Amino acid sequence: MYIGHVGVALAARRLRTRIGLLVLLVATYTPDWVDTGLCLAGGYDPREILSHSIPAVLVFALVGFTAYAFATRDWTSALIISLVMLSHLLLDWVTGYKPTWPGGPMIGLQLYDNPAADFLAEGIVIFVGTLLYERTLPPRQRPWVDVSIMLGALLALQLTVDVAHMMMKTLPKC
Ligand SMILES: [Zn+2]
Repeated sequence: MYIGHVGVALAARRLRTRIGLLVLLVATYTPDWVDTGLCLAGGYDPREILSHSIPAVLVFALVGFTAYAFATRDWTSALIISLVMLSHLLLDWVTGYKPTWPGGPMIGLQLYDNPAADFLAEGIVIFVGTLLYERTLPPRQRPWVDVSIMLGALLALQLTVDVAHMMMKTLPKC
């Protein structure tokens, strides 16, 4: 999943407004940040065992939980952050094809093969996340304006990714 992960961060913000949106954005993309780091370090593995396998994401969630709880003593927020990290893998199983564990099978619906289905799946997550997030904003004169701009921008980004998928089949991750 690509931009859909932002939808989860926005929804989590509704659940717990005291968590910064930036922290939630870092959490929701953790496995992809790890891929980027491995790529920069020259250790990228196309099977994504170190970033997208079940044990890897469980370790990220545990580290995220411990680090946030240690820094803030806010156990509920720490739990939400670790759940946001776990959501990354669940959503990637819908749209992609990911490793289970070292030597284990690959699983996933691989919606990327059908960019229209991918856009629909990610669009639903983005739409629901944006609607939930809207409730966390202070009252405004025309509350729908900025939320519509945000929703439009996120959907446009997702559309760009899906059109790129249509033209290139697989997008280089590294
Ligand atoms: Zn991912």
